[in-house]
Amino acid sequence: NGAHYKKAAKFSDHMKTTSQAASEFSKNNTIQQQRCLLPVFSVREELMDVIRENQIVVVVGETGSGKTTQMTQYLYEEGYGKWGMIGCTQPRRVAAMSVAKRVSEEVGVKLGEEVGYAIRFEDCTGPKTKIKYMTDGVLLRETLKEDDLDRYCAVIMDEAHERSLNTDVLFGILKKIVSRRRDFRLIVTSATLNSKKFSDFFGQVPIFNIPGRTFPVQTIFSKTPVEDYVEAVVKQALAIHLSHPQGDILIFMTGQEEIECCCFALKERLDQLEDAPELSILPMYSQLPADLQAQIFEKAADNVRKCIVSTNIAETSLTVDGILYVVDCGYVKMKVYNPKMGMDALQVFPCSRAGVNQRSGRAGRTGPGTCYRMFTEVAYKSEMLEVNVPEIQRTNLGNVILLLKSLNVEDLLDFDFMDPPPQDNLLKSMFQLWILGALDNTGNLTKLGRKMVQFPLDPPLAKMLLMGHQLGCTSEILTVVSMLSVPPVFFRPTDRQEESDAAREKFFVPESDHLTLLHIYNQWSNNKYRGDWCARHFLHVKILRKAREVRSQMIDIMEQQRLPITSTQLEWDTVRQAICSSYFHHASKLKGIGEYVNCRTGIPCHLHPTSALYGLGYTPDYVVYHELVMTSKEYMQCVTAVDPEWLADYGSIFFTIKETDETKLRTEKKEAIEAAAMEAEMDVFRRQKAEAAKR
Ligand code: ADP
Ligand code: MG
Repeated sequence: NGAHYKKAAKFSDHMKTTSQAASEFSKNNTIQQQRCLLPVFSVREELMDVIRENQIVVVVGETGSGKTTQMTQYLYEEGYGKWGMIGCTQPRRVAAMSVAKRVSEEVGVKLGEEVGYAIRFEDCTGPKTKIKYMTDGVLLRETLKEDDLDRYCAVIMDEAHERSLNTDVLFGILKKIVSRRRDFRLIVTSATLNSKKFSDFFGQVPIFNIPGRTFPVQTIFSKTPVEDYVEAVVKQALAIHLSHPQGDILIFMTGQEEIECCCFALKERLDQLEDAPELSILPMYSQLPADLQAQIFEKAADNVRKCIVSTNIAETSLTVDGILYVVDCGYVKMKVYNPKMGMDALQVFPCSRAGVNQRSGRAGRTGPGTCYRMFTEVAYKSEMLEVNVPEIQRTNLGNVILLLKSLNVEDLLDFDFMDPPPQDNLLKSMFQLWILGALDNTGNLTKLGRKMVQFPLDPPLAKMLLMGHQLGCTSEILTVVSMLSVPPVFFRPTDRQEESDAAREKFFVPESDHLTLLHIYNQWSNNKYRGDWCARHFLHVKILRKAREVRSQMIDIMEQQRLPITSTQLEWDTVRQAICSSYFHHASKLKGIGEYVNCRTGIPCHLHPTSALYGLGYTPDYVVYHELVMTSKEYMQCVTAVDPEWLADYGSIFFTIKETDETKLRTEKKEAIEAAAMEAEMDVFRRQKAEAAKR
């Protein structure tokens, strides 16, 4: 118990290569020889022994040591696959896809056969699949259908240090499964941090350390605070490229827009210089098409330096060999609950110290490297947290609550969380489910709630689908929901903005952005789902195809639930009613010219310039929106005009029609809400007392 397996590095001679020899080696050697060079290979037997003798093992190793790509294969080669699949979860979809592809190449099979992956709305596995990479969300949903995960013989929970919401919930569920199934193996991997905490949570299970093989990295802080980190990063990367010896550059940025901006600036400035050496600039973010993502792993032409500009996906999830320089902006985008908006939002925050240290580590994989930090040492010491706050403590828990409730976890406060969510969060999220009608007054799942869980969608979207069923327009709502589940379909090239804006306007449905999306999809379908039609109308065909896939998967679930596909043809008012019925908590009222305020909170919010309503200058008295985004001001994203009567009907919890037509909180309902919240709090209080009594 509590034994630490610290194995001395066993470098065989040919492994003690210099960086250059190593890269030569990977160029000239087979994929199988490359596998033998990874640090985990040198401890393979010891690792397999520990896993054989222990049902749960925590494995710790530097990024790039081969945890993700090799351990599944080792288990497979040891014969574990005979009893079931070997699963490996990832917090990020991109990582699940990219790693599965790599492993299928290493095993020498077609992706989707023996080695496959599954992410939300995309299942690339088959009857032969033995090694399955997936997002943690996918495995969590699988526990709904099969509570003991009988199809798996082992699960590797990868990137546990990320502490994603779904991974945290899986911890508690898998711990139970292990106690029920003696044949099941659970491996939790982490990039060095927090391993003791994981081991303790599972009952002092062994921690296996993969000996690292890293080179020193020199970190250089900015001397003064940086005003514009995009600019600072671009300058730094150029300075490296123009005056430093060979070695690839990895830049950390927060998101797609910044990354594109950075790539553009780098290219533009290099073009202005006379005889600057060539630089291969490669963006990397989750919405980037898969073929472009794969480019970061490809070798650049001889003597051409690579410069990868990435989100924090390259922090620990993906490893690119050959990086000698890291440029770190010091920020990261995270999902947090924003009390002002009353919902989760992606926001930019300073990284944690653990995060920036991981980032600098990326420079020392192939040789001694350098990390340039676009922040001061003072900021590092005084403004950064030691580690990030786990997602479970900072986001809306609606989905998780629905899932756990349907797994018959009646008392959420009793669930085995590594770090329990703040009670306030739980109550707020339960309240939102209650207003949607998914939970009853006692906090139990309603019939509606039970149906909502079946869809891999956020609760309001699931509700929208089910309301579509009641109102007889599931076909239309399926399209709306699918279009909302994919990235924006409009294509707006910088050099043809006016033309593309004009093309977009042709699709506008005056009273609704949701209906505009529906209209586009229907037109595409009328045009036989053709790609050239999309190109002519400045629409991303790949994204529309994705929406079509999502739609067909949702139809499968509808069929399993015996919900018929119904259509109102062109009676789109019912469609707007279904939207209103699930988004009344996002209702806004016209206040000034083009200016709205949220009916409940009074917070000002604006029509977005890309909205059909804005484009056509139509400002109805009441609208509901899909989400609020905060840029220069609060913008409502995806807006639909609604009748105040609908708000009173569907959102009677909040709204009632006064003679003046104004909306107002109905006091009795408000009291009921308060009573429910009070009840929940009393429960907590009672439990605490009971627990104190036990002690
Ligand atoms: P860890 O999980 O310990 O961080 P990985 O198993 O992800 O390590 O990586 C092991 C090696 O596999 C690394 O050298 C990495 O460069 C390589 N690798 C991983 N994914 C790919 C890919 N898609 N293409 C090429 N090489 C890859
Ligand atoms: Mg990994």
